[in-house]
Amino acid sequence: MAKLTPDEQKKQILYRDARVTGEYDSIWQSTGKCVFCDLNEKYIFFEENGVVMTISLYAYIDGHFMIVPRRHITSIKELSQLEWETVRKFTYLAKKLIKDIHGTKGMQFIQKDGLGAQSTVGHIHFHCVPFDKPDLSVWNYRQLKHTPLENVALYKQARKKIINYDVKFQKKYTNTSSLPVVCDVLILKGNELLLQERADEFKFIPDYWDIPGGVVDDYSASFEQELVREIKEETGAIVNPEQLELYASRIGSTTSAQKSSHLNATYPVTNNFVWNTYVLRDFNPKAKLKAGDDSKALHWVKLADAHKQPLSPGLLATVKQFQRDEASRG
Ligand SMILES: [Zn+2]
Repeated sequence: MAKLTPDEQKKQILYRDARVTGEYDSIWQSTGKCVFCDLNEKYIFFEENGVVMTISLYAYIDGHFMIVPRRHITSIKELSQLEWETVRKFTYLAKKLIKDIHGTKGMQFIQKDGLGAQSTVGHIHFHCVPFDKPDLSVWNYRQLKHTPLENVALYKQARKKIINYDVKFQKKYTNTSSLPVVCDVLILKGNELLLQERADEFKFIPDYWDIPGGVVDDYSASFEQELVREIKEETGAIVNPEQLELYASRIGSTTSAQKSSHLNATYPVTNNFVWNTYVLRDFNPKAKLKAGDDSKALHWVKLADAHKQPLSPGLLATVKQFQRDEASRG
């Protein structure tokens, strides 16, 4: 840890003790802006897919940290599928880390929704709190009005509401991209196939070559239109979507190198996706191709030799099948 000035150390102590001195209540009200839109990088220790794990400045207990999406959203329903999946993964990491680092086997996972629940920051966040004894958050049990059967009856009576909300959620919040769709393209010029080397920050493990394409992120456009956009970004060429013919559709999987700036580490992340490969024949761009976006260099190789290039097993199988299909086309 870097050496702190006496003032910096004083501030750290103030954060540490704010919950018990009661100072927290006056501090958070005076900040004005959204503190989670403006997270201090030095307290973040991990990040993936726009979701961070960050130390809580005003921890309830030693080891307490939070999972926070970068986007300013105020409700779980607004999380994208990817963000929600990341929160799920981070919850798993959290329990393991709390046990390994603090020796505490239990964890409370707390999300306070709404001001009525005393959530002092609207920006959604999930507390991961080491839980060794129940004295940390004492339940003030109340005298109940309803028996268990009366309770369930109340919810069942509201079945119209439940169904309406369910349908409303499907309409408003269902994400069609629970498995991402990747579209890529075998581009042919005569008997040559276009392959690309990926830019350093998008490299696969091992460092395979691939073909232009990418993850569909706009589901209001057609897959072909999305692919046209990718082709333009990665090669500079402008293609008519009608020239693209679907060649294969299956489930794909790749492992790429994920860099963590907070941990100063690189590690493998495997992604599964619906994988649509298109064919673009008689490619004849007016301008010279120019590698861009997640492409570093472009190579025209003889289709008959394409399987000799460093291709991922999935793409290699596709290329070999395509070579056979093209040979039988004559
Ligand atoms: Zn915010």
